[in-house]
Amino acid sequence: VDVNVVPIIDSEGNPVNYIVLLYDITEIRRLEKIRTDFVANVSHELRTPITAIRGFTETLLDGAMKDEEVLTEFLTIVNKESIRLSNMVEDILHLSKLEQRNVLKTLDEVRVKEVTDEIHKILHQKIESKNIQFTYEESDPVILKMDRDHLKQIILNLVANAVNYTPDNGAVSVKAETHDNEIAIHVKDNGIGIPPDKQDRIFERFYRVDKARSRNAGGTGLGLSIVKWLVENNDGRITLASEEEKGSLFTVWLPAEQ
Ligand code: ADP
Repeated sequence: VDVNVVPIIDSEGNPVNYIVLLYDITEIRRLEKIRTDFVANVSHELRTPITAIRGFTETLLDGAMKDEEVLTEFLTIVNKESIRLSNMVEDILHLSKLEQRNVLKTLDEVRVKEVTDEIHKILHQKIESKNIQFTYEESDPVILKMDRDHLKQIILNLVANAVNYTPDNGAVSVKAETHDNEIAIHVKDNGIGIPPDKQDRIFERFYRVDKARSRNAGGTGLGLSIVKWLVENNDGRITLASEEEKGSLFTVWLPAEQ
């Protein structure tokens, strides 16, 4: 609690009374902590690929580059790490843009199928190379009234994860349906799944069940926190059902009429 005392002064300048103002700053402190934690996490996360890039290039310059096999191997790592670094910067900028108040939201009539088709195109290469069976299902055209870019980012992050965390020859599906006043978008995979005790934590920034695996897949640990932010800022919620080695089902619930 912050306390502020304001004296009420009479015509001779003597205090005759006091006004005591009590401010509940719990929320402000909480937000401050989130911000400082975030900066600490960002610094730590950025340091990892930078250290790798520095280490591998220095070793190469010290003579290791004379061996062509080592040269190719190290350059592949440097390339991968720099891509990850740029993904991370992009995600951080994206998140901070979203968090600025008065984010400009446009209300569009968006058909979930159209957005999913675009996402399929974006992820086409990865889906093909892993031989993943991708399907979209809806009984009637499902149309939402919300910011098109928000919906696209939500489904993109969920489908990209489903593809990343599903082994070759797996299946990923998106299904949209209307339930009373809500629209449900299910993103399902038959991949590695998420252990029960980690299911709440994966929505935290930078949290990853298996750091090495996420890193290999070019992950930043920010995707689901962006999804959660977007869903909640469109008056929706996200639920998860997952079983290890069986797969995961993320469901985004959004109001049918906003
Ligand atoms: P990342 O960039 O690491 O994928 P996310 O925030 O998108 O970051 O996800 C956080 C973590 O949640 C991932 O590292 C992974 O451990 C887990 N995860 C997310 N989606 C899935 C999924 N469909 N199947 C299994 N694990 C998942």
